[in-house]
Amino acid sequence: MDTTTTITPLGGDVYEIDTRMAGHTGITAGYLILSDRPCLVEPGTSGSAPVVQAALREMGVGPDDLATVVVTHIHLDHAGGVGDIAKMYPRAEVVVHEKGARHLADPSRLMRSARMVYGDSLDTLFGELKPTDAARIRAVEDTGVIDLGGGRRLESHYSPGHAKHHVGLMDSQTGDLYVGDAAGIYIPETADVKPATPPPDFDLDTALASLARFRSLGPQRLLFAHYGPVSEVDDTLERSAEELRVWVDAVQDAKDQDLDLDHAVAMVVDRTKDRYAVTGGDIDPELAAKYELLSSARSNVAGIMHALGKHA
Ligand SMILES: [Zn+2]
Repeated sequence: MDTTTTITPLGGDVYEIDTRMAGHTGITAGYLILSDRPCLVEPGTSGSAPVVQAALREMGVGPDDLATVVVTHIHLDHAGGVGDIAKMYPRAEVVVHEKGARHLADPSRLMRSARMVYGDSLDTLFGELKPTDAARIRAVEDTGVIDLGGGRRLESHYSPGHAKHHVGLMDSQTGDLYVGDAAGIYIPETADVKPATPPPDFDLDTALASLARFRSLGPQRLLFAHYGPVSEVDDTLERSAEELRVWVDAVQDAKDQDLDLDHAVAMVVDRTKDRYAVTGGDIDPELAAKYELLSSARSNVAGIMHALGKHA
C-alpha cells in the first residue's frame, strides 16, 4: 500500500494532511492540531487510514498520543476511516454530532444506503466504515468543547444544511474554523467555490443559517475538507451562500419546466459552468473530473430537487 504523505504546516501547530481519497491527491484534507492533546480533524476514508497513520507517525504522534478524533459529519469521505483510526489510536476519544453518533457505533445502515448510491465503486472510493466502541464516542449537541490542552479549545457548532449531522469546529487559539462541507467545496487551483447539496438532507434555509452562524463566530481562516485553508473569510462565506442560491434557482426553473433529472443536470451545469474557472474557459479535464467525483452536479441537483419536493 502506498502511504506517501503530504503534510503542509499551516501555522499555529496545525498541519494539513492529504488523506488521498481513492488515491487522488488534493481533494480530501484531514488536519492535525499538534497541541498538548493532539486532535485529528477528519480522518478521511477507510482507505485513507494508513496514509493518516504514516503522517501522524512522521509528526511524532504514536499510538497512545492521539487524544481526539473529530468529524464534521459522517459522510464517508470524512468519517469512513473513524473505525480504523480508533483501532490504531486506542486512547483517542471520537467526537461527532449526536445525529451521527449511532452510525459510527453501528455503521450497517449507513453502509447499506451508501452501497445503494455508489454500487461497486463504494469499495474503491471509500472502503468500509468499521464500527467504533460506543464507549469511546462522545456525541455533541448544538455546541460542544474539545480540550486541546494548555487552555486551547476546539468548539463545535451545529451547522446542518449539507447534512443533518454536520458541525463546524472553531479553534480558540487560532480562530481557524473547520467548515467541513457546510460552505461547499473550495478548489484551491482555481479559487472556485462550488456548492455541495447532496440528498437527502440538503435544505437551503438551513444551510444559509449555518453560513450566517459561521460568520457570526468571526473566524480568522476557513479550513475546507475539500480543500485547504482560505483567509478571505467573509468573501468566501458570501460566495458559498450565493452558490447555493444560484443552484437552487436553476433547479427550481428545471422543476418548473418538468425536466427529468438528466435534463435538469444538463441545464444547471450549462447555466452555471461559466461561474467556475475549473469548468469555464480553459478546462483542465483532470481537475474537473477529480472534483466531480467528490461532489457531482448530479448529486447536487438531486439533493436540491429532493429539498424542493419537501417544501412543495
Ligand atoms: Zn465531503
